[in-house]
Amino acid sequence: MPSYAIISDVHANLEALHAVLKDREKENIDELLFLGDSVGYGPDPNLCIAMLHERAGILLAGNHDRGAVALIDISSFNPLARAALNWTSDILTEKSKTLLQELPLIAAVKKDNLFLVHASPCEPGKWHYITNEFNAFTAFRHFQEKICFVGHAHRPLIAEQAGDGSIIIHQERVIMNDRGRYLVNVGSVGQPRDGNRDAAYAILRGNSITIKRVSYDIVVTQKKMQKAGLPEYLINRLAVGR
Ligand code: ZN
Repeated sequence: MPSYAIISDVHANLEALHAVLKDREKENIDELLFLGDSVGYGPDPNLCIAMLHERAGILLAGNHDRGAVALIDISSFNPLARAALNWTSDILTEKSKTLLQELPLIAAVKKDNLFLVHASPCEPGKWHYITNEFNAFTAFRHFQEKICFVGHAHRPLIAEQAGDGSIIIHQERVIMNDRGRYLVNVGSVGQPRDGNRDAAYAILRGNSITIKRVSYDIVVTQKKMQKAGLPEYLINRLAVGR
């Protein structure tokens, strides 16, 4: 099986995306999979969309991707997310819009027993969050493969369903066994919310899954956001990872 870098929730943060792609090179990882939310919040939606399409073998839609091209109603988004998404829609090129409109909600890599979805394998278009052992437990019933990768919550999580059905939560890394199934929230590249400001992504190599953190120049991103007139709260949260 090839090695995989699995990334999600880039949210138009080009500096964070660059840092993760550079780290992928350093780690010598074969394939790149993207779980959605290329845009929203950050200042570089067009460049992030282009870069992701150039590098990723599979790309999925997140709720912000769909919202930016009016495929879903964004009236339920919080006001700051909505403001950033309206700004995003205005500066998206026709090419970017076409690329976003074509993204699917789910994908599978059958040969390597992987299932991919932005939010949850349970009702993918309803964007449920997977943040703990309880919602992980429910989600395990909604995919057949050995490993499911998700994003959306912006908080990394590795859940294992053991042979007896019980759920075990692992920190940062797991060595997989034959009987276990795995559900991995890969965290967010462009706007982590687990108290760690560094970009997060997952590495699948052989029988190991690791959540890796990569630092990047947050001030550069914040200055671009200021210039774009994006909400102050969204600018400040990058520095604290909340
Ligand atoms: Zn997101």
